[in-house]
Amino acid sequence: MADRGIDRRTLLRLLTGAALGAGGLSLAPQAFAEQLTRRAAQKTHLVVIDPGHGGIDPGAIGCTGVYEKEISLATAHEVARLLEATRRYRVRLTRTSDEFVALEDRVAFARAAEADLFLSVHADALPEPGVRGASVYTLSEKASDKEAAALAASENKADLVAGVDLSRHEPVVSEILFDLARRETNNLSIRLAQDLVQELGREVRMLNNSHRSAGFVVLKAPDIPSVLVELGCLSNREEDGLLQQASYRRTLATSLVRSVNDYFDSITRA
Ligand SMILES: [Zn+2]
Repeated sequence: MADRGIDRRTLLRLLTGAALGAGGLSLAPQAFAEQLTRRAAQKTHLVVIDPGHGGIDPGAIGCTGVYEKEISLATAHEVARLLEATRRYRVRLTRTSDEFVALEDRVAFARAAEADLFLSVHADALPEPGVRGASVYTLSEKASDKEAAALAASENKADLVAGVDLSRHEPVVSEILFDLARRETNNLSIRLAQDLVQELGREVRMLNNSHRSAGFVVLKAPDIPSVLVELGCLSNREEDGLLQQASYRRTLATSLVRSVNDYFDSITRA
């Protein structure tokens, strides 16, 4: 890929099949991944925060009757406020009030906005009332394959509509490049998740195996590093009470913002 000062987003768009030009494979994968990472440091970052659930979907219901959708929205607003206060980021929320937003629409929103980072905010309810703690999820590779392939297929279809002729390119080349982009995105997601576990762990109780992976639909953008944070367990009386306190949510939000800062700092240093 020639060095023309394009940003990571544009590069990933190219990779995901929008306009695979000649010489797309001229860099070794490692050098290419490094180039992607460098690009990520080169513009004003847009962070999309996704407050889980909303509207007719309350999410988990706490032992005192509080809804997860209220906790997620209040925390998301706090994270947005603190991120904006750093003056390093532009911030957008997938919902700003108590409304239902489909999972696919949340991902589509982040992709349309060309987000650099997607942070989904939730709270758990577990069968054992004695268990409490926060946890952080990234997309499991296995779970991602089908969805990612479907998204890739629809991307390519959209490009055909836009008049870009992909028929000149071997499908296998598109697949390799798409997979490379997806893996790079996943590596960045894992980097953020590991930092989140550390930062949160300094301030609040964490679940065992606090970094987990699962096939969450909202984590399936192949070109946006994405992490889902479970702030704590609403099924635990103590944590249910804590999550309803603005001061506790501020503590959580502060840790999240510290991790986002670390994440972009580490990319800048890369
Ligand atoms: Zn949830």
